Amino acid sequence: MFGLMMQQPLLISSLIRYADRFHGDTEIVSRRVEGDIHRTTYHEVHERARRLAHVLVARGVKPGDRIATLAWNGYRHLELYFAISGIGAVMHTVNPRLHPNQIAWIANDASDTWLFYDTTFQPLVDGFAAQCANLKTLVAMTDAARLPASKVEGVLAYEDLIAEGSAEFDWPELDENVASSLCYTSGTTGNPKGVLYSHRSTLLHTMVGVSPDVLGLSASDVVLPVVPMFHVNAWGIPYMGAMTGAKLVFPGPNLDGASLYELFETEGVTLSAGVPTVWQGLLGHVQKQGLRFSSMRRTVIGGSACPPAMLAKFENEYDVRVIHAWGMTETSPIGSACALKPKHRGLSKEAVLALKGLQGRPPFGVDIKILGPDGQEQPWDGKTEGELLARGPWVLARYFGREDQSPLVDGWFPTGDVCSIDPDGFIHITDRSKDVIKSGGEWISSIELENIAMAHPDVAMAACIAVPHPKWDERPLLVVVKRPEATVDREAMLAWFQGKVAKWQEPDDVVFVEAIPLGATGKMLKTSLRETYGKHPLPETK
Ligand code: ADP
Repeated sequence: MFGLMMQQPLLISSLIRYADRFHGDTEIVSRRVEGDIHRTTYHEVHERARRLAHVLVARGVKPGDRIATLAWNGYRHLELYFAISGIGAVMHTVNPRLHPNQIAWIANDASDTWLFYDTTFQPLVDGFAAQCANLKTLVAMTDAARLPASKVEGVLAYEDLIAEGSAEFDWPELDENVASSLCYTSGTTGNPKGVLYSHRSTLLHTMVGVSPDVLGLSASDVVLPVVPMFHVNAWGIPYMGAMTGAKLVFPGPNLDGASLYELFETEGVTLSAGVPTVWQGLLGHVQKQGLRFSSMRRTVIGGSACPPAMLAKFENEYDVRVIHAWGMTETSPIGSACALKPKHRGLSKEAVLALKGLQGRPPFGVDIKILGPDGQEQPWDGKTEGELLARGPWVLARYFGREDQSPLVDGWFPTGDVCSIDPDGFIHITDRSKDVIKSGGEWISSIELENIAMAHPDVAMAACIAVPHPKWDERPLLVVVKRPEATVDREAMLAWFQGKVAKWQEPDDVVFVEAIPLGATGKMLKTSLRETYGKHPLPETK
């Protein structure tokens, strides 16, 4: 017997329709590439998205066509999120921080036919567009007056396109399982691979993402996603904004501490989200200028492990609650978020901070398990480590263009991360399987050593990599960027580890560098560090 409730597909268009009807006057604020602050509303975003959708259909875009964007976080990008997916085409957000050849590779892999781009990326577009035979229509996201000079002929102005469309357009009723957006893994581990989300997976991810133990979003929030809209859909925040009617604030290209802080304060931001490297810049600025956050109450930190020193600073000194979250492109990305349980009430401040430093527990929808090297499931004792596998309705089943191969193991997605899980289901990511340092048959967590180094007052950034060792197989080498005017030297840095980890887990050597290369999503590029320092001669003390 079937239930007798309405069959309404879960569609991305329903999000913006809802936001328009119930939160139509809520503001969407953007710092534009033009330099000014722009204000619009959910009502206007909906109207312009419908106009744009109408134009796309009129100009021949078919369901399933891939349409690329190279754009910062801003209102036009938001309009595209709804317009493209809303007509059943695929919103392909491309990371502009990649090399032009990599972008061409991705655009060709996806067979993108249209490209919308912020004018800042004109030189980038000039550098790769000729390599993409399928790319037929280019649109600069500005008005005709500001159209930049381009090597490519026939570039259209976004505002002209919008003016061409009709707001009478209504969203088609699609099958909720059709593809909505495409995002390539950032390639810190091999060639980028396309992850193709559906309307259904996106809506379910959004519903759970706004729930109290994840982002806990409501119409009273003002959300500033620092995490880019070209990186796993800004962790789903544009959709979550529309679902709750929260005010959205987009920082555009200016992600330095001073610019972000200014927007936080002028717009009354209550919640933000980003990778630890961004918060490093923001905290540095706030600390140096002796500033306070007058409205920000929560920040989501993920993408790589949140160093405990950063967590403690936000929570203890600035009264900002950190939501430490884990996920990946393949998990839409929310896999877990750290929210405490009633049983944790009454714990000491230190114990609470230690718990918050974990990557948290999966919300409803995501299931996890860990496997040992022999493929056997490991216990949830908070100590035993294994490779993390996940499954759920917003977890990848197959990569785009590689539909004939299944990456799954018995129906579970192997994440490539190494972790332990405690009896309450809290994950502690200790490494990526390829970053873990294998010393004398034991594993040393590179993240743990980096966290200890980052807690040193003289350290601005630290990465730990494995260096081959004749006796122990691999030993840890610490790569450190000092803070300006810092005095710490090799000996003092090594001494800092004494008593904080087992003797055999202490780094063997330290190299000081000017900068650690960051990947396209702001994470430390360990592949590049391994290339440079992989043969670093270690002192013969161990
Ligand atoms: P890529 O795999 O190309 O770096 P993703 O952005 O999908 O692209 O990265 C996902 C990976 O980032 C995870 O598999 C994990 O290794 C790491 N990661 C994400 N969040 C955390 C976190 N809170 N703590 C530790 N590692 C994290």
